[in-house]
Amino acid sequence: MELKDKTIIITGASSGIGASAASLFAAEGANVVLGARREELLKAQVQAIQSKGGSACYLSGDVCDADYAQALVDLAISQYGGLDGALNNAGMMGDMCPLPDMPLENWNAVLTTNLTSAFHAAKAQIPVLGKQGGGSIVFTSSFVGFSNGGMTGMGAYAASKAGMIGLVKSLAADHASEQIRINALLPGGTKTPMAGDDPAGHEFIAGLHPMKRMASPQEIAQAALFLLSDRSSFVTGCPLIADGGVSVRLA
Ligand code: NAD
Repeated sequence: MELKDKTIIITGASSGIGASAASLFAAEGANVVLGARREELLKAQVQAIQSKGGSACYLSGDVCDADYAQALVDLAISQYGGLDGALNNAGMMGDMCPLPDMPLENWNAVLTTNLTSAFHAAKAQIPVLGKQGGGSIVFTSSFVGFSNGGMTGMGAYAASKAGMIGLVKSLAADHASEQIRINALLPGGTKTPMAGDDPAGHEFIAGLHPMKRMASPQEIAQAALFLLSDRSSFVTGCPLIADGGVSVRLA
């Protein structure tokens, strides 16, 4: 029960890493507040957690919307009386292509979904955690943007995920004295809908990693659990790499 009675917001909770984190955190005793756009999937996720005796609620919306970030915080407070942390995890990859061929619309969509959403989430979450005497915020970044790992055509995605690491370091410095810990989680290639379901694609991604495999979403959720639990009580401003060694590969 690493998160007993902690209330945690998880965005991108309708699939992949966010869905795994929702199940894991609830099993570890958290009240989870789930966000993403697809209401039916969130509802099913909440029902699955409740059927196992866990505590969960949801609100569907778009993380690009500042009001939605605030509404998730308000829901945590109205439903569970406060907020202890968040896994700001929703994200998109966008088109993979060389930058000269990239439409501005793709750049804007990726930066807004992945990075401006972090701004909205931090703005809504930090004041509440400050008033409560502390908490833990995690942003899902990526190995792409940190090492790039041999992935091409990912300028917008890499910029958004690298930007998130800079944001985390700055926020951590600003709010450490309030006992608010703010970290980035950098997964390697992970078997989720974002990575597609083409076996050849999976084999290519697995081959980039020294461990010669992709992560399961559950493995990444475990790293998020560490950052949200008191086990990481002196960890802040950290890009936590969970990437099967892709950032240290030789070639
Ligand atoms: P996924 O596609 O299964 O999950 C993405 C989630 O974000 C979904 O729930 C989706 O509905 C939600 N989402 C996307 N845009 C949204 C929006 N505008 N508003 C609300 N919700 C939105 O993929 P995943 O792999 O689980 O991705 C989770 C995070 O992990 C992302 O930030 C992604 O960039 C990051 N990541 C993934 C990998 C990988 O290989 N899968 C590697 C490194 C980092």
